[in-house]
Amino acid sequence: MQLPSSGADSGSLRELWSHFQEAIQQRVQPEQFETWFRRTALKRVDGDSVELAVQNAFSRDWLESYYRDAVEESLFSILGARLAVCFTVDEELTLVEREPPAPSEPMTNGTSARGEVARGGPPGSPGLPPSIGRPAHETAAALSSGNGGGLLVNSDVVLNPKYTFDNFVVGPCNRFAHAAAMGAGESPGKAYNPFFLHGSVGLGKTHLLQSVCFTVLERWPRTRILYLSCETFVNHFINALENGDLAEFRHKYRNVDLLVVDDIHLLANKERTQEEFFHTFNTLYNAGKQIVLSSDSPPKDIPTLQDRLVSRFKWGLVTEVEAPCYETRMAIVKRKSRERGCEIEDEVAQMVAERIETNVRELEGAVTKLIGYSRLTGRTIDGSLAKEALRDVFEVRRGQPSMDDIIQAVIEQFGVKLSDLQSKKRTASVTYPRQVAMYLARRITRHSLEEIGGFFGGRDHSTVLYAVDKISGLIVDDAPSRGVVEDLLGRLGTGELR
Ligand code: ADP
Ligand code: MG
Repeated sequence: MQLPSSGADSGSLRELWSHFQEAIQQRVQPEQFETWFRRTALKRVDGDSVELAVQNAFSRDWLESYYRDAVEESLFSILGARLAVCFTVDEELTLVEREPPAPSEPMTNGTSARGEVARGGPPGSPGLPPSIGRPAHETAAALSSGNGGGLLVNSDVVLNPKYTFDNFVVGPCNRFAHAAAMGAGESPGKAYNPFFLHGSVGLGKTHLLQSVCFTVLERWPRTRILYLSCETFVNHFINALENGDLAEFRHKYRNVDLLVVDDIHLLANKERTQEEFFHTFNTLYNAGKQIVLSSDSPPKDIPTLQDRLVSRFKWGLVTEVEAPCYETRMAIVKRKSRERGCEIEDEVAQMVAERIETNVRELEGAVTKLIGYSRLTGRTIDGSLAKEALRDVFEVRRGQPSMDDIIQAVIEQFGVKLSDLQSKKRTASVTYPRQVAMYLARRITRHSLEEIGGFFGGRDHSTVLYAVDKISGLIVDDAPSRGVVEDLLGRLGTGELR
């Protein structure tokens, strides 16, 4: 074909465009063509470059990242010349946007992707932005296009193959969260977007988040997943600001099919990062990409979280995992021991399930200890072995005040409510008792910093460490504080301050 000269008239542009469309259709899947090229326009051609316009920055970045080669090859095939291609945004293109085919229209290539995605849920729910109800084939295309899916290298975890829905023990405390997570995994970008999971530490949030990733990858192996802790998002953002590569940062975060951010509550008090996350969220959400978030508390309780983020986090589904009841704890102990190739008898499982009440990670730790101790000593796991192996867990119960005892004493001493101690409130009348309780827990119990944080609304270990340091300082420098702590130690029957 003849190469149009600089400033080619609209007739030759149209002709070139029509040839280009044929050529590109031979190189991409029909649904990819519909999603990415149908609403693209040929803006300008000259002797050595071609400009293609798209409606928004997201499409431009996507084409740039995943279709540049196909575009260049297509142009070469019809023009016989290698031209530099540039993609630009022309918002007015929306004016001539072609209606996407109705959802009932058959797929031209008969792929199963459409059916698979469509099955998951109704096309759009009242009160939600229209992108949720975008045609299934678009979602499928968006999820399956791009080179090399899977967990992206920028992710900061390697998926743990044990964190699947199958390995998750379901009980009344987490039934809904489990079902909803499955829904998000089976119908990404449609059923629950964003999917917001909250709950205390060690209750299976990360497990469920990774299960969503496995489900999506099983169905659409080419899905590009970015899985990050919130901390990594914050750090990447700060680095990008410092190094002046915000464009690259944005490109990385906005060109994914599924964004998972674990522990999003760490956005608290980070205004600029919240701002950036807001835009990342919008871009992905508007493109029908699935967003999955976990947090130690519901959106409204994350301190200083901007209202617009709070409201966006509630657009999809907010659900909680609660501490497991006794029966679920029993089932978890049995399951975890079976996973480790060992059957623990009921009597021992009961001892463990009765004593470890609030944290599945601890339950798991107890099972690991039991099995390790049994293999080390060559003894079978029975009640007496359990008492030896789990001496620290059991002794705390018998002799030492437990976490509950400490909390009870603090509540009585200060006249605060348990819900306040566990809330995000930061008024002095709540913060001080909470810090004293954390200090006592650290001093008296064998709980780790992380576990102690878990008792107080899922705070992280650094918050607990700060509280312990602060109160340790006060009992040296501040007589009233020293008096309060001495009273409490007396009340708990654990001796005096040295
Ligand atoms: P969180 O992210 O809420 O702090 P995790 O997902 O890291 O908690 O869970 C801690 C450990 O407990 C993991 O090893 C996880 O597999 C396990 N776990 C939590 N809940 C369950 C459950 N319902 N069934 C099986 N394992 C669970
Ligand atoms: Mg976690």
